[in-house]
Amino acid sequence: MVFLNVKKLNVEYYTKNNSVHAVQDISFQLDQRDTIGIVGESGSGKSTLAMAILQLIPKNTGKVTGKIEMKSKRLLDLTPSEIREVRWVDIAAVFQKSMNALSPVHRVGNQLSDIYRLHEKNIPHKMLKQRIFQLLDMVNLPSHVYKAYPHELSGGMMQRVSIALGLMHNPKLLILDEATTALDVVTQTQILKELMELEEKMGLTRIMITHDLSIVASSCKKVAVMYSGQIVESGFVKDVLYNPLHPYTKSLIKSVPSLKGENRKITAIKGSIPDLSKPIEGCVFAARCPYAKEVCFQSAPENSELENNRAVKCHFVKGGEFVWEEGKQTIV
Ligand code: ATP
Ligand code: SF4
Ligand code: MG
Repeated sequence: MVFLNVKKLNVEYYTKNNSVHAVQDISFQLDQRDTIGIVGESGSGKSTLAMAILQLIPKNTGKVTGKIEMKSKRLLDLTPSEIREVRWVDIAAVFQKSMNALSPVHRVGNQLSDIYRLHEKNIPHKMLKQRIFQLLDMVNLPSHVYKAYPHELSGGMMQRVSIALGLMHNPKLLILDEATTALDVVTQTQILKELMELEEKMGLTRIMITHDLSIVASSCKKVAVMYSGQIVESGFVKDVLYNPLHPYTKSLIKSVPSLKGENRKITAIKGSIPDLSKPIEGCVFAARCPYAKEVCFQSAPENSELENNRAVKCHFVKGGEFVWEEGKQTIV
């Protein structure tokens, strides 16, 4: 059974004289226990997608249309109080700056307890304390963290506290938005490893938003590559990151050190993401794509669905191959 179904999701932010179409017609599905990485350059709409799922885009800031269904709940149709219940209890999120949400003048344990009570008011004090100790233990934090002040903890410890906060009410879906980006590689790897063990135990589904393709390669089953508000390629990590078909995915992979550990030249992607306040006629990547032909500037490519749950938006991806010249397969 489909766990999360996002269909034709659009997000438009209102700006002073215009609007920014930050998420454009995005559709994807997740099964329970799936892990999906959302990757793409800065400004491609990754956080906006997460915020739309969490219903965190205020009505006066932007318009969200389409469908987001979690099991049988239509998230876009919920009332504000129903949405508050869904957040934390069904879906939890950890952001890069989640740790800043904690007050510097109160002890970590007391703050976690207060937040816990927002959703479970009547839990007896003793039980709550036990639960907080259990949560600290789950994310590999020593029990003295309960009595510590936030400034006494390292960045890695604080991010573990943020994850504990996210897991407080046993959510079914966890969204991490650059949650480990600020940490050193060793701490990041360690936290991800622990998180994957927890997911296994808790049956969690995870959406992982990151700039770091190696994090996706090592911790996710699926991946969606975003460019300019659209998902241009999606599928299993083993297909998309190791045998990319879309020219943007190819460029993105070439702009980072090899995922297979081999030595090769790193090439930056020239140019920048288009202005999302202006409509785009053809393919969103056309202005920067080394393979763009006339047709790319004139019409937007369809999303072609290939074998193995793979989908690619490019005029030249046909039958699972990138065929650039008539009858000739081009490998970049
Ligand atoms: P990053 O990797 O830098 O976090 P991102 O992929 O998460 O980038 P978003 O933050 O979702 O990208 O932004 C997508 C687009 O929406 C950008 O053009 C951004 O400027 C615009 N945007 C984001 N928030 C708002 C807002 N509140 N009002 C207007 N435009 C916004
Ligand atoms: Fe490049 Fe054209 Fe494919 Fe777009 S449709 S990615 S511009 S080749
Ligand atoms: Mg972001």
